[in-house]
Amino acid sequence: MRSRFIFVGLVSFVFLLMSGHLRAQAEELPNVALVPHASGGYAPDSVLVKFKPSANASQKARARGLVNAASRRGYGIVKNLEKLKLKPNQSVSRAVNRLSRLPFVEYAEPDYLVQAATNDQYYGLVYAIENTGQSINGTTGVADADMDVVEAWSIQTGDPNLIIAVIDEGVQWDHPDLANNMWRNPGEFAGNGIDDDGNGFVDDVYGYDFYSNDGDPMDEGGHGTHVAGTICADTNNSIGIAGVVHQCKIMALRFLGPQGGSTSDGIASLDYAVQMGATISNNSWGGGGFSQALYDSIAAARDADHIFLAAAGNGGSDGIGDNNDSGPHYPSNYNLPNVVSVAATDNRDQIAGFSNYGAVSVDIGAPGVDIASTYINDGYIWNSGTS
Ligand code: CA
Ligand code: CA
Repeated sequence: MRSRFIFVGLVSFVFLLMSGHLRAQAEELPNVALVPHASGGYAPDSVLVKFKPSANASQKARARGLVNAASRRGYGIVKNLEKLKLKPNQSVSRAVNRLSRLPFVEYAEPDYLVQAATNDQYYGLVYAIENTGQSINGTTGVADADMDVVEAWSIQTGDPNLIIAVIDEGVQWDHPDLANNMWRNPGEFAGNGIDDDGNGFVDDVYGYDFYSNDGDPMDEGGHGTHVAGTICADTNNSIGIAGVVHQCKIMALRFLGPQGGSTSDGIASLDYAVQMGATISNNSWGGGGFSQALYDSIAAARDADHIFLAAAGNGGSDGIGDNNDSGPHYPSNYNLPNVVSVAATDNRDQIAGFSNYGAVSVDIGAPGVDIASTYINDGYIWNSGTS
């Protein structure tokens, strides 16, 4: 394990916390890596030129030669528009000036870089959404070693009615980058000591705390808040990070305390999630042996069309990834069609050294090394793990 990782309870063990070094630590996110994304600018080696309809072939050829165009590309949608790729060391501003002065050119302009990105302050750090090859914590990434989230956003950016339960250490539900995307129990009034909606839980506004048995699933450890931000941080709000989806409803369910939690409380959390309409739950925890009761609970959740996402595990006590096919890790190993077991990859599309794996038992890999996300006390930190 590389020592610079903030290797917090990305898997909090159900029955025991493996050792002290899995405890959470906070670290400030650096601002420096933001600059390339925030600055915009234009491509250093190409310009766009539109010829007048009257321009003939020899005039166009002359124009291309004037700016040392190495190649050109036309567009069906706008006639006479060309992208001219400049030879090395050609000045874009000089090329634009020279082209603009030609009488048969309608206009010439820099090839401005646009961001499919969001305006969130730390967008450039969230390589899982868009990896442009930027350096993350000192490791240069491989462009497009990401989840193609920006491409997905062109189809949809999320569903404000989709309830995703984060079954974890709780969530800082008033975090500035999460508050707008929290689920709120529509039938419950906060703090009146009454089970207003009659679901069996008093003052369960944002979810429930099955660890402390009260209606406030506030995160005390930070892990659940980090996971929640990756899923659905408030996006395009100019602060903090972007979430994989811009809109959803995060239901906060706390069942892990400082020393972990119990299977029974995990079952209670899943029970609540399904009962209150969460169709997806994120379960970034593991440990313990096979539990028929938990298996039965996840199978019942499946009957309610509930998808149970589970971390594949962080390699056990030595932090070196294990093969889940030969040594099962639960709950990710429960052989049920609604369980999605997730390994961790890095910004170069390599599996993380700490990540469990398994050709049969692990379903997908997703970025899990040096993940920038929300943290308790209105914070943001780096975290690594299969969570
Ligand atoms: Ca209630
Ligand atoms: Ca944000």
